[in-house]
Amino acid sequence: MSHRNLIVLALFLLIQTPCYCWGFFGHRRINGMAVFLLPPAMLALFKPSIGFLTDHAVDPDMRRYAVAEEGARHYIDIDRYGRFPFDSLPRGWTDAVARYTEDTLRQHGILPWWVMVMKARLTAAFREGDGPRILKLSAEIGHYIADAHVPLHACSNHNGQLTDQRGIHAFWESRVPELLADSHWDFLIGRAVYLKAPSALIWQRVLESAAAADTVLSVEKELSRRFSPDRRFAFEERNGKIVRQYSEAYTIAYDARLGGMVERRMRQAIQAVASFWYTAWVDAGQPDLGGLAGRPFSDADQKAFEALDAAWRKGVVLGRGED
Ligand SMILES: [Zn+2]
Repeated sequence: MSHRNLIVLALFLLIQTPCYCWGFFGHRRINGMAVFLLPPAMLALFKPSIGFLTDHAVDPDMRRYAVAEEGARHYIDIDRYGRFPFDSLPRGWTDAVARYTEDTLRQHGILPWWVMVMKARLTAAFREGDGPRILKLSAEIGHYIADAHVPLHACSNHNGQLTDQRGIHAFWESRVPELLADSHWDFLIGRAVYLKAPSALIWQRVLESAAAADTVLSVEKELSRRFSPDRRFAFEERNGKIVRQYSEAYTIAYDARLGGMVERRMRQAIQAVASFWYTAWVDAGQPDLGGLAGRPFSDADQKAFEALDAAWRKGVVLGRGED
């Protein structure tokens, strides 16, 4: 195959490779690390289930290939609502619908409200002592909370599509952590804390993300002027395929210029996920979780897991993709 054809093929594969919020890697790490912040009474269920919690950390992204309304749960283009701190947008769903209509809210993403829906469901599952449901909802709320920590999930220019920076979404949330998290970052984090106002925390994280989005974009723009395209990108083999991705040197330079932002957001995500799990359990009256580990998933659950996987393999996002 000629060099030129190889490049065309690689570009095609780059476009075809599905993008994930935080990537498979980031979401798996965040859910997995969060387990170790829990008190012993919760570890009785969560520690033996760590494989499930990490494996299913990306189910919500896979569902974007099967369910059209899923996409809006992963982001909020909060800059559509004026200027920071976006006071014109009511933080309560009912008031927000009254002001902007449900259609508009869904169009710009419903992430912080969806986290609260998941929190209510998880609390109910704890109350009912439903082990499989607790684990499913814990894995999934972990995903949405982690997404709230990604600056480009709170910004309408979410993949740099407005500033000629396509690909920056996965660059920040997948490429940087995949290259650096295990070898260079510190995930010794304190404990889960009880959240008196979980909604306030998720909104705070969304606002922090929104405030950081400009830096995420402008730092890359500036750096790209110092790296010629052939130094910015590299061809690497992944899972038997040759893919074009940001080069190691460029990734390291970008991370350094962000001053530890990606690591900091990942740490905050881990802390927030553990705290939401813990808060749901406390709000349910701290039920005994001993004996819930290893309960089998229902046939319906198993079929749903398989259907998600099949839809994802087809590779067609319903609704909005990364750009
Ligand atoms: Zn997501």
